[in-house]
Amino acid sequence: MVRRRLDSGLDASLILVLGAGGHGKVVADALSLIMPGKPDGFVDWNPALVGSRVLKYQVLGDQDWLWAEASIRPIAIALGIGNETTRQRLMEKCLAQGIRILTVVHPTACVASSATIGNGSVVLAHAVLNAASRIGKGSIVNTAAIVEHDVEVGDFSHLAPNSVTGGGVRIGCSSLIGLGAQILPRVVVGDRTIVGAGAVVRQDLATDVVAAGTPARILRMRNEVSQDVDHCLVSLPDPSPTVDDRIYLSPPHMTGQEQHFVLDAIATNWVAPVGPHVDLFEAEFAQKIGLKHAVAVSSGTAAMHLATRYLDLEPGDEVFCSTATFAASVNPVLYERGNPVFIDSDPATWNIDCNLLKEELDRCARRGRVPRAVIAVDLYGQCADWDALQKICDSFEVPLIEDAAEALGATYSGKPAGSFGWANVFSFNGNKIITTSGGGMLGTNDSALAVAARRLATQARDPAPHYEHSAVGYNYRLSNLLAGVGRAQLGALEQRVAARRSTFDFYRAVLGDEPGISFMPEAPYGSCSRWLTCVLVDPDRFGATREDIRIHLEANNIETRPLWKPMHLQPVFKGCRHVGGRVAERLFTQGLCLPSGSSLTPRDLDRIVSAFSTVRRRRSNRSVPVLA
Ligand SMILES: *Cc1c(COP(=O)(O)O)cnc(C)c1O
Repeated sequence: MVRRRLDSGLDASLILVLGAGGHGKVVADALSLIMPGKPDGFVDWNPALVGSRVLKYQVLGDQDWLWAEASIRPIAIALGIGNETTRQRLMEKCLAQGIRILTVVHPTACVASSATIGNGSVVLAHAVLNAASRIGKGSIVNTAAIVEHDVEVGDFSHLAPNSVTGGGVRIGCSSLIGLGAQILPRVVVGDRTIVGAGAVVRQDLATDVVAAGTPARILRMRNEVSQDVDHCLVSLPDPSPTVDDRIYLSPPHMTGQEQHFVLDAIATNWVAPVGPHVDLFEAEFAQKIGLKHAVAVSSGTAAMHLATRYLDLEPGDEVFCSTATFAASVNPVLYERGNPVFIDSDPATWNIDCNLLKEELDRCARRGRVPRAVIAVDLYGQCADWDALQKICDSFEVPLIEDAAEALGATYSGKPAGSFGWANVFSFNGNKIITTSGGGMLGTNDSALAVAARRLATQARDPAPHYEHSAVGYNYRLSNLLAGVGRAQLGALEQRVAARRSTFDFYRAVLGDEPGISFMPEAPYGSCSRWLTCVLVDPDRFGATREDIRIHLEANNIETRPLWKPMHLQPVFKGCRHVGGRVAERLFTQGLCLPSGSSLTPRDLDRIVSAFSTVRRRRSNRSVPVLA
């Protein structure tokens, strides 16, 4: 062999295998093939084994014996321990005692000249390390495991026999890839994660999880205690067949970093609606959007309420709102005994129609009573026309509130959604583009609003040593635990937007040519976050209604939802004025939101579009009257 199969240790007077169990036997055998006459024996922490024979080698001693020997002569050991935490701990201890740790490569292993292997790792029979692959220290590349080109494996990980890692895969530290498991190219597996035997991993896996099945899905978090340790070598329960898995409209998508912040909050005892993560979340958020102030609260609705409360409405004061929105944009107007007036959508953007808004403001101004505010929504991730809106509202001196709950990550004229108007509302509900399970943020550049909102959100407590209140307050604060989740989520915002936009592109590429199917247009002034992909279904041309599609997809366990039912049609807002409404009504009767979560897999997307096309097939079997 040209390559050295064994690192250093040749000058050691005693060469041992640490660990006399099953894995230790395999390591001893590999060592004997590259160093005839070696090892000199085993060392094992279990004193009961001392003196016994394993293969043809003697177990020479235990821990105390090893430390004593190491103090009088040079010793080298090969790591024969399967458990990765024990392996790491003992390797570190041995190094601290001046013992050399051998790197062992079986003579039949095929190692590219550009591959690197960290100290203390073992590469066993018929394993392949392909070009430019990198194995960290103390790791195991077990029998016949294949490590493709450019794979990176962290320290103390274990690739079990016959496992395959495709090109460019990255595996963290102390992770276990089970017998025969396959990690598809470029997938990233976090630290301390366990992949069950036979799993096929198509998507990145977070740290500290246990995953199994085809495709691999997360079964649970990894246990602290070591009962998981050998799971990579045995079959984990297969998750229920994925074919019937429910595909949700917009489920939460964790980054794998949330738990670090949450554990920090617990470790530092900041388990309260105040704390360092709340402060940092606000600061990081304000900076990302370019706002002077960001006030973290318990929901988007709470943020909207605080802004509306600050207006100090008199009963009957009007507030203009988009009619195509979620009720939470408008409910706070009713909390404050105002009268919402609903403005129709612009068919080009689905957002508030600026011409209708201006006409209605003109009419109100002539009657001498303009509304107290305009609430405009960035619908489904698309910004409203903020330059036009600002100009109109300025000319009537009406404050403008931006409901950006659906549009975090979108832009308008290169500026972030949520940076327009007087007050900005964000939501981190579980279905939004990033989530804290529930939570929200009120943004503003108006310091007086920020101060007042903070005070109202904390029970309107006046400065005094006791609890003193001169106003009715609310308990709207965000927990420091959830702020920790929010910080991790915020860090992934750009990726989440990219994923949702590419999901939209996929749907449009596959379904865009269907007769009667059209997509929410993207206004030329900005970039839509595509929080949800929305289609309009013209039943005459498509041959089925949006309800036919929704019910058919539901039967396939795929969640979709009609577009927002306009506020002027909602029983709760009966009697409220509305200006126009036909555009929003058509969006409601024809519109369907398709599953749009950033964690959708190619397989999920295939399932969705093939279910969509079976509606089509059924439609073409039915006799649809031909319209002239
Ligand atoms: C989600 C949403 C809200 C409310 O946010 P919550 O955090 O759920 O209270 C407000 N407005 C719109 C348009 C939304 O979609």
